[in-house]
Amino acid sequence: MEPVLYPVFAEKQLRVFIKRDDLIHPYISGNKWRKLKYTLRRAEQEQKRHLVTFGGAWSNHLVATACAAAKFGFKSTGFVRGEEIQNLALTLCRIFGMQLIFTSRESYRDKQALFNQHFGNDSQGFFIDEGGAGPDAVKGCAELADELATDFDHVFCACGTGTTAAGLWNGLHLRGRSHTLHLVPVLKEGERLPGTIQHQLTGKFDGHIHPGYHFGGYAKCPPSLAAFIMDFGAATGILLDPVYTGKLVYAVADMAVKNQFKPHQKLLIIHSGGLTGIAGKLNDFSFNLIS
Ligand SMILES: *Cc1c(COP(=O)(O)O)cnc(C)c1O
Repeated sequence: MEPVLYPVFAEKQLRVFIKRDDLIHPYISGNKWRKLKYTLRRAEQEQKRHLVTFGGAWSNHLVATACAAAKFGFKSTGFVRGEEIQNLALTLCRIFGMQLIFTSRESYRDKQALFNQHFGNDSQGFFIDEGGAGPDAVKGCAELADELATDFDHVFCACGTGTTAAGLWNGLHLRGRSHTLHLVPVLKEGERLPGTIQHQLTGKFDGHIHPGYHFGGYAKCPPSLAAFIMDFGAATGILLDPVYTGKLVYAVADMAVKNQFKPHQKLLIIHSGGLTGIAGKLNDFSFNLIS
């Protein structure tokens, strides 16, 4: 956890900290480590040695699973949505020994059918859902709450499926923490989120949702977002990714500008990792901020 010394926050007299889950591991980064922890334990208990999972071509989850499989002695296969392409994420997957199977968008929809078709007869095959989602992932993410030494007024978390947020909410709730949890969805229609994760929660969701920061949808990075990531990076030395944490920190800074927090409040931002996402957006960062 480290303080964020960024002009907007200083101006509004806010004490802002960032939890550097991006530093957990360079490739099994951030929330992906937490999401895989109990999943891999269960695979081990069930004596399955072949992890089979699913993702888009820029999936941080595929990279994390490939690396974790190699590190902990599993074989791995990744079903990739769409046509065969080459990029940093998929190259990392290959380097970590993952077998990649490119799959049409249509057949990708039925993941269980794909698994059965290719690995139905493989007694070692272990199904891990897209993004690592599931009860094991929620359990792993709840442990984040154990690592927060002090109390905060507001805690902020980026959301894709919301699995990480569900775990975090449970962890905070179980430990009787009084923080207000704020979710920043990176996809359109994020306002649906509390509803879609409610069944994973150990109580009624009482946080806030901020659906206005998706910047046009998943993995969209307009110049305003790229400029913010560059300004923040230059001011703090902290790298944000354009898909998740860039939108998250932008949201917090924007709410600070709009005086949505009281002076002297203590804020915590969860840096959930995902820095390979930068490589997918190189052209979006090709302008020079300082001119
Ligand atoms: C995958 C990912 C998320 C989204 O996690 P969910 O549990 O699906 O909400 C957030 N941040 C980063 C950096 C990610 O890679």
